[in-house]
Amino acid sequence: MTPRPVPLPRFPELFAPDVEREYRVARNAARSRWFTLTAVMGLLLFDAYALVDAVLAPQVLGLSLALRFGLVTPLVLAGLLLRSRRLRAEPASAVDGLVACGTAVLVVASLGVVQHHAPGALGGAYFGGSFVVVVFFVTLLRTDVRWAAGCLTAMLAAFAWGQALVGADSGPVEVAALLAVAVSGLFGLVMAHDVERSERARFTAVRRERALAAEREQLITALAEAAVRDELTGLLNRRGLAERLPAGPVGVLVVDVDHFKQYNDRVGHLQGDRCLASVAAALTAGSRPDDVVARLGGEEFVVVLTDGGDAAAAGERLRTAVRDLALPHPAGGVVTVSVGAATGAWEQAFAQADRAVYAAKAAGRDRVVERVAEQVVERLVGGVAP
Ligand code: GH3
Ligand code: MG
Ligand code: MG
Repeated sequence: MTPRPVPLPRFPELFAPDVEREYRVARNAARSRWFTLTAVMGLLLFDAYALVDAVLAPQVLGLSLALRFGLVTPLVLAGLLLRSRRLRAEPASAVDGLVACGTAVLVVASLGVVQHHAPGALGGAYFGGSFVVVVFFVTLLRTDVRWAAGCLTAMLAAFAWGQALVGADSGPVEVAALLAVAVSGLFGLVMAHDVERSERARFTAVRRERALAAEREQLITALAEAAVRDELTGLLNRRGLAERLPAGPVGVLVVDVDHFKQYNDRVGHLQGDRCLASVAAALTAGSRPDDVVARLGGEEFVVVLTDGGDAAAAGERLRTAVRDLALPHPAGGVVTVSVGAATGAWEQAFAQADRAVYAAKAAGRDRVVERVAEQVVERLVGGVAP
């Protein structure tokens, strides 16, 4: 019943493995559309940059179009397809990371190649664009911060390689450019880190709220169940009985343990309790599934036959079931019950059965007495006279 402790996200620590998986499933489901939408927008932006090539370096337009539309676009779309397939089966964080990292390197490297074939023409535009690329992959795509860091490293490597390609005489300007891109990437990482941390915190809060709600539900169910159960015997109590009474006519058996005061007085209440529990179990076992078995209080029980069967016969079955337990009675013989039986609308039948128990007691106990209207019919007399 105590709430299961939920580990707090102390970044960069991950949750415990099962919770981490749960987090990834929840996160991927929530982010899935975002990822695809952003990736497609990024791809459009990347392809639109062909216009820059057309204006600034028409001599490489063919190469630019081939790389953008012949290589990068189909590969990214294939990655997105792979991701959407994979997502149906399991959390796709790693797939997201691979798609993002792979695309980042592909984009930066292809830009390096285009730039290489147009020395000096595209440097300024591509340098400005590289900030967009870095911010896009590290922050906008919202991959895990770990993957974003991997992405940034891969992009910087590709960027450095691209710069080296462009100028054989690469010097302080290229190093400064690399540094500027790296620093903007680091800022992006800080943001990605913050986004992930708040996502983890929100997930933790939602999870805890759900756990508490589930616990509250369990508690309410347990309380509702306890409210209709008798603690000692596990049978229904009066309230539980009242809740289960059908509207139509019923057979009613009032069952009272014989000479129970003597039993208690001689062997003690604890032993008496055990005896009551055994009698209750015998009554339940001897009843049919549709019968309602309840403890009225003390050593008195009631069994309601909801299907209109023969009440006296059912009473005799239960009387025998208790006798067959063969629980020794300290005053001699075994523990027995007297049963009053009646049939009709609940209240009248119960009143009749209650009176019939007294008749059974007066007639010598360990027997079933049925009252039919005001007529007392003593049936199925038991074997032991007091
Ligand atoms: P009769 O054959 O006429 O029914 O006699 P009886 O002794 O069974 O009836 P009586 O009403 O005089 O005594 C009932 C006894 O049941 C008195 C009380 O000590 C005992 N009793 C009631 N509730 C409990 C219980 O929860 N546990 C135990 N151990 N005894 C109980
Ligand atoms: Mg009694
Ligand atoms: Mg009694």
